[in-house]
Amino acid sequence: MILHLKSSVSGLRASEIAAGLNAFSFKKDGNYVLITGASMKDVPAQYENEVSDSWAFDNDIQLASKKYQNEKRSVNIGDVTIGGNTKSTILIGGPCSVESEEQIRESAELIKGMGLTSLRGGCYKPRTSPYSFQGMGLDGLKLLAKMREEYGLSIVTEARDATHIDEIIEYSDVVQVGAKAMYDQGILRACAKSNRTILIKRGFGTTLKEFVQAAEFVLSGGNDQVVLCERGLRTFETSTRFTLDLCGVAWLQEHINLPIILDPSHAMGLAFGVTPLAKACTAMGIDGLLIETHPNPKVAKSDAAQQLDHAEFKAMLNEINPVAAAVGYKIV
Ligand code: PEP
Ligand code: MN
Repeated sequence: MILHLKSSVSGLRASEIAAGLNAFSFKKDGNYVLITGASMKDVPAQYENEVSDSWAFDNDIQLASKKYQNEKRSVNIGDVTIGGNTKSTILIGGPCSVESEEQIRESAELIKGMGLTSLRGGCYKPRTSPYSFQGMGLDGLKLLAKMREEYGLSIVTEARDATHIDEIIEYSDVVQVGAKAMYDQGILRACAKSNRTILIKRGFGTTLKEFVQAAEFVLSGGNDQVVLCERGLRTFETSTRFTLDLCGVAWLQEHINLPIILDPSHAMGLAFGVTPLAKACTAMGIDGLLIETHPNPKVAKSDAAQQLDHAEFKAMLNEINPVAAAVGYKIV
């Protein structure tokens, strides 16, 4: 249940009520908001005079539910706002991993040169094998910060686990919580307390409800800058890396008030399929695309098969622009 307390309720009193209900509490537009388990269906009588509004839910999809807030939330990716009424589809591009200054600079030049604003690149890579390239760590984050400084781009980079979350929060504009990391409570709770935008990727065996509940961890801490990212599920099919769940996207668009970004690169796993999938995603009227591109994909240290080279990335933008326009959106 979500409770909005009256503006006359003091911070001290809000904390007392929160403790009594075992609720999360944060301040929104000057008033306190409390959230407690969905099992609670009625406002306890002793608090009735202090509550201005309340919402009861069937399950723990609460703050993210359109039943609580019907309008899509506005979220900032650097200086760009998505969601709300913007009808903007942000194209976030860059390599899977930051590999060297030369490589990330070429990537930053590509993004800047195309009039885009957001650069991605992982420094702590959640690899399936411990023997694969694990990322440049802090040195990579420093390179990303340098690119932000020199090219004015916002930085999207992923947290692998909670051990380095403070570093990621310090160096990023958008903290990407990866498909394997979205259950990590340490990451989610740190993200909830931060003022960064949090991009949560759906685990490849995660239900829509579990996916949204991960977002609730961040929202209930008072951070409303949350974006969901669909990046493909594991199915019986092995010809493609994963299966992009566009049905799930339609469900989220109907029920959930968070902006949605799609990642055709990880879903497909193969560069030839990324542009056609990106067109299909764009046609759904989405808030963003996350697409991997590398100056020379053949030598990429991670996800080599799926990364577009820079010419392919530019051609992809030309193909999705008219699709976005056809559904009343603009690629930014
Ligand atoms: C990535 O974006 O490079 C990545 C590792 O993604 P995911 O968590 O979706 O596998
Ligand atoms: Mn990748």
